[in-house]
Amino acid sequence: MFDAILVEKSGDTGAVSARLTQLNDSDLIANTEGDVIVAVAASTVNYKDGLAITGKAPVVRRYPLVPGIDFAGTVLESSHPDWKPGDNVILNGWGVGEGHWGGYAAKARVKGDWLVPLPAAFTPAQAMAIGTAGYTAMLCVQALEAHGITPDKGEVLVTGAAGGVGSVAVALLARLGYSVIASTGRSSETDYLKQLGAASIIDRAELSAPGRPLGKERWAGAVDTVGSHTLANVCAGTRYRGAVAACGLAQGMDFPSSVAPFILRGITLCGIDSVMAPQAVRREAWQRLARDLDLAKLEAMTRHIRLKDVIGAAHDIVNGQVRGRLVVDIA
Ligand code: NDP
Repeated sequence: MFDAILVEKSGDTGAVSARLTQLNDSDLIANTEGDVIVAVAASTVNYKDGLAITGKAPVVRRYPLVPGIDFAGTVLESSHPDWKPGDNVILNGWGVGEGHWGGYAAKARVKGDWLVPLPAAFTPAQAMAIGTAGYTAMLCVQALEAHGITPDKGEVLVTGAAGGVGSVAVALLARLGYSVIASTGRSSETDYLKQLGAASIIDRAELSAPGRPLGKERWAGAVDTVGSHTLANVCAGTRYRGAVAACGLAQGMDFPSSVAPFILRGITLCGIDSVMAPQAVRREAWQRLARDLDLAKLEAMTRHIRLKDVIGAAHDIVNGQVRGRLVVDIA
């Protein structure tokens, strides 16, 4: 038997509930497909995990489900040619924790094609301190770089800065030499964000209300984790030929903007998806994280919890109350 979080849906009321329970290998085999079984050492709590556990948005595609969209651990059994027992691996996305049993259990059974090697620079817990949030932050940084947004082009903005994606983005961009403007709704996190490397802080209220199609040109690039009016205002404030990497929807999934920033200022909106990103993109992002992320800053933004704490943390993250990253120590 091993510990796991299980999300279930009531046949009568349709209500979604989550509980800590015990599963065995037969449960895992009966409910999953895959050619690799991993002993999970650590997982993490991302915003999407919060949605899955609270049922606040329909991200879960089958019940019952072990949630947890990412994990790091060691291969126990494999019939996949790339992996053998003892290999240290990471899994992010591919619908795991949504339509396939995920990381909130001591064992996971997945497709070997979904795994990437754990970079030697990281322990499993450090890889999960980064997690899907940090890997997505790296994809955003790479998108800005690919569009020519170098530190000399001007300041870069990070929205939802005190959250998981935001915190890693601030740390990465500062380490790479960018002058970072951090947008947050939590003024109490000013010192935290400056410690991660933010040069200045703005109140997210400046960006979250309906705004004008074009505003003053303020930042050369931006990482937006918030969506909705915030993303529209971020685009409206982006400098000529700047770029915005959009990865999140913490304010909303809508995008009430106009074409003005695109056709009058030539800005680029880069869509970022971590879930189905091809293997080569993932491996490069993890290698860049190994090179460019300051591990002391990673530690400063990370708190460790146990499986029994995950359900409470899920509610906290959908309420915007989690600072930085949460690692779930499982082994
Ligand atoms: P967090 O909850 O850790 O961070 C989100 C942050 O957004 C909060 O900390 C808060 O920052 C801000 N925020 C929350 N609610 C609002 C609101 N109503 N209006 C404005 N700002 C708000 O989540 P994650 O960092 O894990 O994820 C961030 C977003 O990115 C989520 O929407 C998530 O779904 C998405 N995501 C997308 C991925 C992809 O592949 N595209 C992968 C990973 C995440 P503050 O307190 O500083 O204002």
